[in-house]
Amino acid sequence: MRVLVVEDDALLGDAIQAGLRQRGFVADWVRDGVAAQHALESRTHEAAVLDLGLPRRSGLEVLAALRARRDPVPVLVLTARDTVQDRIAGLDAGADDYLVKPFDLGELAARLRALIRRSAGSPGSALVVGALSLDPATREVTWRGEPRSLSRKEFALLHAFLSSPGRVFSRAELEEKLYGWGEEVESNALDVHLHHLRRKLFPGVVQTLRGVGWTLPKDLA
Ligand code: CA
Repeated sequence: MRVLVVEDDALLGDAIQAGLRQRGFVADWVRDGVAAQHALESRTHEAAVLDLGLPRRSGLEVLAALRARRDPVPVLVLTARDTVQDRIAGLDAGADDYLVKPFDLGELAARLRALIRRSAGSPGSALVVGALSLDPATREVTWRGEPRSLSRKEFALLHAFLSSPGRVFSRAELEEKLYGWGEEVESNALDVHLHHLRRKLFPGVVQTLRGVGWTLPKDLA
């Protein structure tokens, strides 16, 4: 789950990024409204955490521009004060949820998981295909009812595959799910993670389409 954090307060932004990473997210962080707009235009994130009071362009302006170009990415706004007006303005501008500062990082992570889940159209918290299931909240993965232990990157890969069964992901798309900006992408790392995923689950969990990419079959037995 890759998310964008937009927050100009250095301490808070750092805490949010660290807190989300600790909870298994890939979190990119920008500090002003113009950088936020550029980042959102790249469409690499599954959700965004957006502070409303930002330098260069306000959170509300960023949000309005996002919705004007019909980008449906879920947005959770952070409001500084518990004023009804701020929340109404945020929701009216196209926010999907909000939190009032100060807030709990665990709650922020849970709300982001819920937003990402809803935008993917799945009602329950676990993603299930055949006998394979992954719960983003508890970080549990089971195959035929047996728990399997995955590394953080293996979990992120499986999460991407299970979010869109049957979809073919290119190398660039999968690497985008695994690494935030500034994180170095090791050249063979993706192949190694895919190898481990097959070994820990079963060989057919991810199919290779030569020269195209990888997919998790819809009809996983
Ligand atoms: Ca601010």
